[in-house]
Amino acid sequence: MTQLPSRVLFGAGKLASVKAEAERLGGRRVLVLATKFQVDLAEQVASLLGDLCAGIFAEAVQHVPYETVSAAIEKTDELGIDLLVAPGGGSTIGLAKGIVLERPMPILAIPTTYAGSEMTHIWGISKDGRKTTGRDPIVKPSTVIYDPELVASLPVPMSITSGVNAIAHAVEALYAENRNPISSMMAEESVKSLGEGLPLVAQKPSDLNARSKTLYGSWLAATVLDQVGMALHHKLCHTLGGSFGMPHAEVHTVILPYAIGYNQSHAPEMVAAMSRALGCDPADIAGAVQDISRDNGGPVSLKELNFKAENLKKAAEIAVQSPYYNPRPVVESDILNLLQNAFAGKRPS
Ligand code: NAD
Repeated sequence: MTQLPSRVLFGAGKLASVKAEAERLGGRRVLVLATKFQVDLAEQVASLLGDLCAGIFAEAVQHVPYETVSAAIEKTDELGIDLLVAPGGGSTIGLAKGIVLERPMPILAIPTTYAGSEMTHIWGISKDGRKTTGRDPIVKPSTVIYDPELVASLPVPMSITSGVNAIAHAVEALYAENRNPISSMMAEESVKSLGEGLPLVAQKPSDLNARSKTLYGSWLAATVLDQVGMALHHKLCHTLGGSFGMPHAEVHTVILPYAIGYNQSHAPEMVAAMSRALGCDPADIAGAVQDISRDNGGPVSLKELNFKAENLKKAAEIAVQSPYYNPRPVVESDILNLLQNAFAGKRPS
């Protein structure tokens, strides 16, 4: 197991440490990244950084377009930036990663969703309608500040889909080819924390204990995402997102129960761990995962995400094009069947 080091600060109010952490990383000219929807947070971070902050670049968007990375690099050069601070979700942290691929410097990540990019050395950039991903130690954030107060502003529907996105990393870690006892232990604990915490978040989004529990689950999920390889579920979501423009976290939420159903006959350790983590019958793990979304107002079908039925066959074709590890052999007709079931959204039994 190779574990790249990150310094992690976890707890309500930890955002206040951002200046000390930036100094610790040697930052003297800091650029704060954000989406246009999180400018307020970027300004709050800039004000906490005080004289260290050289500017804000609030143009991060989904799927990290190369044009945005180029514009950010221009700003980085112009301002003589030596540290990137990325408060936000996977898109903002993804932009920081895109920048450091060409301008190596440390990243201080402050996640505000459960997606998990902050703990990984995985990057993704979109260019000419195609998303390319890769792994490079240089993009792994040096310091991560997990502050439950920041994730408390994430609306309930996004909290549910983002939380299930994190569960998906843990599920696939439980049957990863290169899993190990430590990654499996963390993955099970991740599913338990998110499975218990997400319904509490849906009931009371401002509940900081529930936000801490879910953020802890997402930290674990992100850690195993970094350590081991993903399989069919992530491949399907990448296909639906990359080739059909489907929204990232929502697609993860809809597909996961069916990917679990597909693999469960070939992944006994995953089944046992999920059943312990969710406190359900081993035969019902796929349904129990879908209930997390259904019971809390999240999506359960590709149909409700406006996916077009006529694209199911094409999606199945693309998803089997390049070989990859999966516990159960990936057969196109079976994948089409999986996608048809996900389109309908019937509870897996
Ligand atoms: P996102 O970063 O695209 O955020 C979605 C929207 O929610 C944005 O407008 C954002 O500004 C807003 N938002 C984020 N946090 C908020 C909060 N607390 N309150 C209010 N609004 C908030 O979504 P995401 O799901 O975090 O990230 C998805 C992207 O991350 C995908 O492109 C995915 O491929 C990538 N990703 C990468 C990795 C990796 O390891 N490289 C891991 C997971 C996800």
